[in-house]
Amino acid sequence: MKSAFAALIASTCFAMAGTAGYDVIVAGGGPAGIGAGYMAAKRGARTLVLEKSGRLGGMAVSALVSPFSVCTDSPAVRHVAGRIGLANSVDFHMADVRAFDLLREAGADVMLHADVIGPVMDGDRVTGVKVNCAEGVREFHAKVVIDATGNGIVAAAAGVPYEEGRAGDGLVQPMSIMFTVCGFDPGKRFLCFSEEDARSKRCIVAGKTWERIVCDEIAAGRLPPEVGVIRLYPGTTKDLVVVNATQVNGLFGSRSADLTKAEIAARKQASRIVDVMRRHLPGHENARIADMPAVVGVRETRRFEGVDRLTTEDVLSGRRRDDAVARRCSFVMDIHNPSGAGQAHGRDKSVTGGARKVKPYDIPYGALVPRKIDGLLFCGRCISASHEALASCRVMGNAMATGIGAGAAAAEAVKKGIDVRSVDARSLHLFDK
Ligand SMILES: Cc1cc2nc3c(=O)[nH]c(=O)nc-3n(C[C@H](O)[C@H](O)[C@H](O)COP(=O)(O)OP(=O)(O)OC[C@H]3O[C@@H](n4cnc5c(N)ncnc54)[C@H](O)[C@@H]3O)c2cc1C
Repeated sequence: MKSAFAALIASTCFAMAGTAGYDVIVAGGGPAGIGAGYMAAKRGARTLVLEKSGRLGGMAVSALVSPFSVCTDSPAVRHVAGRIGLANSVDFHMADVRAFDLLREAGADVMLHADVIGPVMDGDRVTGVKVNCAEGVREFHAKVVIDATGNGIVAAAAGVPYEEGRAGDGLVQPMSIMFTVCGFDPGKRFLCFSEEDARSKRCIVAGKTWERIVCDEIAAGRLPPEVGVIRLYPGTTKDLVVVNATQVNGLFGSRSADLTKAEIAARKQASRIVDVMRRHLPGHENARIADMPAVVGVRETRRFEGVDRLTTEDVLSGRRRDDAVARRCSFVMDIHNPSGAGQAHGRDKSVTGGARKVKPYDIPYGALVPRKIDGLLFCGRCISASHEALASCRVMGNAMATGIGAGAAAAEAVKKGIDVRSVDARSLHLFDK
C-alpha cells in the first residue's frame, strides 16, 4: 500500500513526465515564469516549471521586492497576482506557496531546487533543458522551452545574441538589497515612494525634507553617496516598512563574483540606513531590521535579440501593436542610476531627478521570440528591449504579462504543431475577460 507520505508527494509535487517529455518547460519561477507556467497549463499543454531556489516568486519573494506593480491592462495578470497575494504589497511569507498551488491547480508540474544549467539542442532548435537537481544532472525534454530565468540562462547558452547595459559605458542598473524594518511606532510610520516624494512637502521631518536629511548624512560620511534616496514602502501590516535604498554600482548580476560583492556591500549599507532612520524619524528610535532577503535584487542583466524589439521611442511615444502580449504598459522609465545615486542624472538632460514618464505602450510578441533559435521563447526582464525601455517594462506585473503571453503562445504552437515563431499573437485572445 502507498504510504500517506508518498500519496501526498504524488498529489502535491509533480508527476514527472521525465525524459519522455513535456509540451512546455518553463525555466524560472518568478513573476514571468509563474505567468508562463500558469497560462501554458491552463491552455492544455503538459507543463513543467523548474525553479532553482526553494521558493517561487522570483525577486518578489527571494529579494523582498515590494510593491508588485501592475501597470498593464491584463485581466490574466490581475487574476494570477490576486490569487497569489502579490497585488500591491507582496505577502513574502505565503506568495510562493499560493503560486505553487495555483500552478498545480492549472495542471502544471513544479520542481523546486532545480537549477537549469543549459539547453538540450538539436541543431538550432532547443529541445529541452539540462537541470542540476538534488539527484544530479538530468535532462528534461519539451516541444517549447520558455526562458523565465531573468538572466536568460537558457537563451544565452543556446547562442541567442544579447546586449547588457546602456549605450556608451555598458553599465547596468544597480543591484540592491531590499529589507523590511519593524520596531517603530505604527502611528508614526513614515513612507517615501520616490525621489520626487523625498523632496516634497509630504516628506518633511523636523523642518527638513527627507532628501536633505539623507544628503546631509552622505556629506557627513555616514551613508555611501550612491544611496541617494531612502524609499520606504508600506509592508503588509502597519508595523512594517519595506526599504528600497541600498545600491551597488558597476557590478553585473550575470557574474557570480559581482553578485558576491553586491550581496555583502548592500547588506552592510542596510544597517547604516536603519541607523539613519532611528536617529531622524520620530517614533523610530527602536526600529530594527525584520527580514533580510535570501538574495540581492537584480534589476537588469541580459537583453536578448528578438525578431522584434521594444525601443525607447516605442515607450515614449506610446506605440500600440497588433501582436501585443502586454497592452497599455504605463510604468515610468525607472532608471536607477548605473553610475551614481538616484535616477540616471547627467546622462540625459531631460531627466531631472525623477523618472521620465512614458505613454501607454504595448509589448509585441516578437520581443519574446529569438531571432535565430527555434523552440524557445523568453519573457520577463530579459526580453528584447532597449536599456531605457526595459527600465519601464521590467516591473513585475508587466513581466508576468509577458510570461502569460509566452505561455499562451507555447500552448498554441504545441496545439497546432508549429514553431513558436509562426504563432499569430492576435489569435491568442490574451485580453479577453
Ligand atoms: C531592488 C529592486 C526593486 C524593484 N522594484 C520594483 C517595484 O517596485 N515594482 C515592481 O513591480 N518591480 C520592481 N522591480 C523589478 C522586478 O522585481 C523584476 O524586474 C521582476 O521580478 C522580473 O521578473 P522575472 O520573472 O523576469 O525575473 P525574476 O523575478 O528575477 O525571477 C527569475 C526566477 O528564475 C529563477 N532562476 C534563475 N536562474 C535559474 C536557473 N538557472 N534555473 C531555474 N530557475 C532559475 C530565479 O530563482 C527566480 O525565481 C524591482 C527590482 C529590484 C531588484
